[in-house]
Amino acid sequence: MILRDVIVPGHGSGDLHVVDGRVQAFDQRPPSDTQRIVMPQLVEAHCHLDKCHTLHRLADVGGDLTSAIAAQLEDKVNWTEADIWARAGRGISELVEAGCGLARSHVDWGNTSAPPLAWSVLEDLCSDRSDEIDLQLAALVNIAALEDPDCAMSIARRIAETGGALGTFLLDHAEPRQSLINMFDAASRFGIALDFHVDEGLMPGLHGVELIADVALEHGFDGPILCGHACALMNLRRDDFDRVSEKLALAGIFVATLPTTNLYLQGRTEGTPDRRGLTRVRELTDAGVQVVVGSDNVADAFCPLGQHDPMAALNLAVLTGHLDPPFDRWLPLITTNAARALGQKPPALVGTSIDTLILSDARNPAELVSGRCGPPRRVHTLSEAAQ
Ligand SMILES: [Zn+2]
Repeated sequence: MILRDVIVPGHGSGDLHVVDGRVQAFDQRPPSDTQRIVMPQLVEAHCHLDKCHTLHRLADVGGDLTSAIAAQLEDKVNWTEADIWARAGRGISELVEAGCGLARSHVDWGNTSAPPLAWSVLEDLCSDRSDEIDLQLAALVNIAALEDPDCAMSIARRIAETGGALGTFLLDHAEPRQSLINMFDAASRFGIALDFHVDEGLMPGLHGVELIADVALEHGFDGPILCGHACALMNLRRDDFDRVSEKLALAGIFVATLPTTNLYLQGRTEGTPDRRGLTRVRELTDAGVQVVVGSDNVADAFCPLGQHDPMAALNLAVLTGHLDPPFDRWLPLITTNAARALGQKPPALVGTSIDTLILSDARNPAELVSGRCGPPRRVHTLSEAAQ
């Protein structure tokens, strides 16, 4: 089978030769007016399937991050097994529909070493939907609970049963270093990834990203580390930013920008906002730090809108972060960079299974990111691929 006249972002235009369900060769030829795009399945690096689709029953939504945390907490009385299964299942269907083959969802863990109900339900869902999507879970543990090294070890041991990530929320906590050291020790012991919600604010005095980079460099941790939000990098002077980004690059730390929730919650004033809460996507990229884009919250207290769709998140990041064309440069934020941030090596084009490829009728990457052509389809479902 030959998929003729396609663009493969990062590889150019040409014909894709498929033999026995795998790409055998890509013959480059000049672009045409009728070409379509073939690319790897999208990767959702950061979402919250335990919280999604709760908006309709929340009384008071609106306000900043503190208000959102309080409103979401009130909803937890509704989090039965059936409720979580239905809402998270809807979120997974939306990810699959958007063309995702790999995703990581955070799950609120709380203060104890024992997992919450949502963790067990999501584990069952991961297994139930494993033929549609490779879904990882990241435990969002209260940082105070991680001050106890035994608790950190116990949680990491439980996470390792299904291969997820250990995470926490770090904002303006007084003495977070020991909790971070315990997290690195536990993740290293059980061979799992680390994932942080860090510096999700624009107030002065937030240095969580640099602290994580310092602990990572001291520890020599070799698993993937993903730092989500990092809004407060916007507060740094150029020389301070250069120091922090150098540490991030040296430690191989990925940074996730999460436009929807940050645009909604950050920089709130009496009137129209003038600070928007994105991290420094362009400067980090220029400094050699690998950046990813995630969807974050969908229809919950943190974001009343949102979509489980990395392409939509990239679209928003382009507009709000001034990520100029060509978009071949930015697509890795929701494909190859994001896969590496989740600990997976992106496959080379030649030899890859067509089960892992998607196709869009978009004629160029700008049209693809615009979303005008609708969600991409799975290549293996095409009649021409079945020949
Ligand atoms: Zn998040």
